[in-house]
Amino acid sequence: MTAIGFIGLGNMGGPMAANLAAAGHTVKVFDLVPDLMASVAGGIACSSALQAAQDVDVFVSMLPAGQHVRGLYLGNEQQPGLLSQMAASTLVIDCSTIDPASARAVGEAAGSLGIDMIDAPVSGGTAGAQNGTLTFIVGGSPNAFDRAEPVLSVMGANTFHAGGAGAGQVAKICNNMLLAILMSGTAEALSLGVDNGLDPAVLSEIMKVSSGGNWALNVYNPFPGVMEGVPASRGYEGGFLVDLMRKDLNLALQTAQASDSAIPLGGLANNLYQVHRQTHDAGRLDFSSIAWLYKPDLKK
Ligand code: NAD
Repeated sequence: MTAIGFIGLGNMGGPMAANLAAAGHTVKVFDLVPDLMASVAGGIACSSALQAAQDVDVFVSMLPAGQHVRGLYLGNEQQPGLLSQMAASTLVIDCSTIDPASARAVGEAAGSLGIDMIDAPVSGGTAGAQNGTLTFIVGGSPNAFDRAEPVLSVMGANTFHAGGAGAGQVAKICNNMLLAILMSGTAEALSLGVDNGLDPAVLSEIMKVSSGGNWALNVYNPFPGVMEGVPASRGYEGGFLVDLMRKDLNLALQTAQASDSAIPLGGLANNLYQVHRQTHDAGRLDFSSIAWLYKPDLKK
């Protein structure tokens, strides 16, 4: 049994913390929203992040963005950073999706204090968090990665070591940028086919086994009625929100600017999602609703 502190009990962090408690670990939880602490079955509510970080072997955070992660670990005008108040033996795992520069800054600050820290953003959404089937994409030292594996394997089904501090964030950002491009392209191709008299289900079957085959066609078709159990077939409710995809595309743009990389398709996908969000008030819809941009009559 491991003593674990867990900060950030939102849509993702709440069920992840509950899975750790269900596996028999002692889980001390904290969130700025007190009700969320009570909703984690088996969790021990704390009065502050510092309290949750004391007397634990492992400390996990699942926060919205880079500013929250930097504020928590490095501190700000209001409060000292948590890293300076933690035992050096604590393993720190940040699962938030944030900019790689923040992840590197926090990881390096931890390293300078002798604290093992990894960035471990996840793929798999809220269903993966609930079912303990997330994919963790890790940046950090091999030793920290090895120490984290037993804890990550309770919350997820797959764990990858992408490289040093920040590498987990870079890999996640690359993946989600490609996903946005693939989803937009798939909606565009299906729309062209439908405009020219094809059935989207027939066209999908053809492209799945042809050179245009991809993940969106295989498991997440953006056209309603083609595939059961996907957001497109339930009014684009649930799934991976347009707002979260836009967050990840903005991280891709920031990352590309920092490395002086050209990402013309990522930039275009970001603009497509921005226009879609504004035109259709689509921020809280699944990202496959980008199909509306091509075929507004899909919006019922
Ligand atoms: P959320 O907004 O539901 O939860 C974040 C929680 O952090 C909130 O409850 C908030 O009160 C808390 N919080 C913020 N600052 C805090 C602080 N200083 N101390 C304590 N608690 C604090 O967000 P979410 O959907 O759970 O996402 C969390 C992260 O996971 C984000 O980085 C997101 O991009 C990423 N992510 C989300 C999904 C998804 O489908 N929701 C999928 C993959 C990755």
